[in-house]
Amino acid sequence: MDQLISVRFAPSPTGPLHIGGVRTALYNYLLARKHRGRFVLRIEDTDQKRFVSGAEQYILDTLQWLGIEADEGPCQGGLYGPYRQSARKKFYQNYAEYLVEAGKAYYAFDTPQELDAMRQRLQAAKVASPQYNALSREWMKNSLTLPQEDVKDRLCAGVSFVIRIKVPYQEVIRFYDQVRGWIKVHTATLDDKILIKSDGTPTYHLANVVDDYLMKITHVIRGEEWLPSTPIHVLLYQYLGIEAVMPQFAHLPLLLKPEGPGKLSKRDADQYGFPIFPIAWKDPHTGEYIPGFREKGYLPEALMNFLVLLGWSPADGRQELFSQQELIQAFSLERINKSGVKFDIQKAAWFNKQYLHAKPPTERLEYLTAALDEHQIAYTLEQARQVCWLIQDRAVFPQDFWEQGKYFFKIPEHYDASIIQRKWDKSVRKVLKEWVVLLKSLESFEASEIKITLTKIIQAKKINSNQVMPIVRVALTGISAGPNLMKTMEVLGKEEVIKRLLLGLERFSMLSMPCSHSIRDFDAG
Ligand code: GLU
Repeated sequence: MDQLISVRFAPSPTGPLHIGGVRTALYNYLLARKHRGRFVLRIEDTDQKRFVSGAEQYILDTLQWLGIEADEGPCQGGLYGPYRQSARKKFYQNYAEYLVEAGKAYYAFDTPQELDAMRQRLQAAKVASPQYNALSREWMKNSLTLPQEDVKDRLCAGVSFVIRIKVPYQEVIRFYDQVRGWIKVHTATLDDKILIKSDGTPTYHLANVVDDYLMKITHVIRGEEWLPSTPIHVLLYQYLGIEAVMPQFAHLPLLLKPEGPGKLSKRDADQYGFPIFPIAWKDPHTGEYIPGFREKGYLPEALMNFLVLLGWSPADGRQELFSQQELIQAFSLERINKSGVKFDIQKAAWFNKQYLHAKPPTERLEYLTAALDEHQIAYTLEQARQVCWLIQDRAVFPQDFWEQGKYFFKIPEHYDASIIQRKWDKSVRKVLKEWVVLLKSLESFEASEIKITLTKIIQAKKINSNQVMPIVRVALTGISAGPNLMKTMEVLGKEEVIKRLLLGLERFSMLSMPCSHSIRDFDAG
């Protein structure tokens, strides 16, 4: 590729960006950076009916959070602006009129009732997909069927009209897709799509093609859902006599549900409990607040790494972790898959963990200290450092340092009652009591020393450590899982460990009383 690569991301501000839209932006961005080309952000806001306030700002905020910087766009400006379609109406009008004059488009005056009647007629005649096309247009009220004078009169009288593209009869439209290869579409399957609506605004098809042309776009990389529109776009390039500069097309595979067939939807995200939007969205109509990947603790670089591999694979097929520079180097249209990709949120979490792990320790420490400050908990830096170090292997999200480490700083408020119900009995109580005595006598409260005392007592009492350890963990932390228990005890410190074990002994004993059988989540408060 030695020409200047120019790509665009062309979202419509009709709501929050879906995660698939973010992937589209990312692929465009990577290709532009790889070839030192232009990455244009164009806001496709011609459909006023679908306009949602705040959606454009949402798109800008998302791209900023992800570090996907546009070279040209509504904020940056550029040589080919304006970059909002609502400010470009005059261009579309001119091109539409040119097409009408060239006999490639026509005025259509049909009322909604007439269009309905046409559909019913075609349905009654068992036409598979009733549409306004080379055959049916003959029976309708348009500038191809009405006398010229009549058309003029109607236009002068301000009769409502749309402009439709004149799709040729019985032809085959061919175009090459970088992902799918050659695609052939018979014009019998195409509708005479509206180019200019009755309110004078352009439809997606016309505005998209005119802008890609005027903005000198060389590659159109977009979701597979736009593939059926592409033959109309190809026809427009031909009709406008600009086929020679028609961009190359690459339609990206669909993101699929985690399980079963079909496209990934917001409903799947709700069902499986994962985010679907990159950043939080507050619905301007309902006021509903929907947290995004950012709010759930995903790091932007991890999300990008995860997304890039949903539909693209590197040449060596094995590398999974990529710095942004490596991605820019490695990315190519040739290695985009044809088939849809299942959305695997576990994989997203895996990437997050890797990136969290690779952060400098000071940054991880800040996740914890910020939460401690927020909860107004006193701590020493050394203590926080030790907790961070203990948690780091298990943490997937920044908030885990607090969520999984808070019990180091405050006594547990709840105990996991299921563990107590399963493991607590008289023998465990006895072991615990004696162990507390041994622990009290320890001079150095290091993990290795603690372990020796535990082994000693377990052997003496001939009890399985699987019986004792979960109870000890619950007494100390309230929960059933966490980092190495001996290390946890060391970091908690002798005094705190003894205090919590004694408290546990007292409280868990209450559970063996007949009246407390039903306790599910044992409240320590
Ligand atoms: N405005 C369209 C969208 O919302 C753009 C499709 C395209 O890239 O051509 O996705």
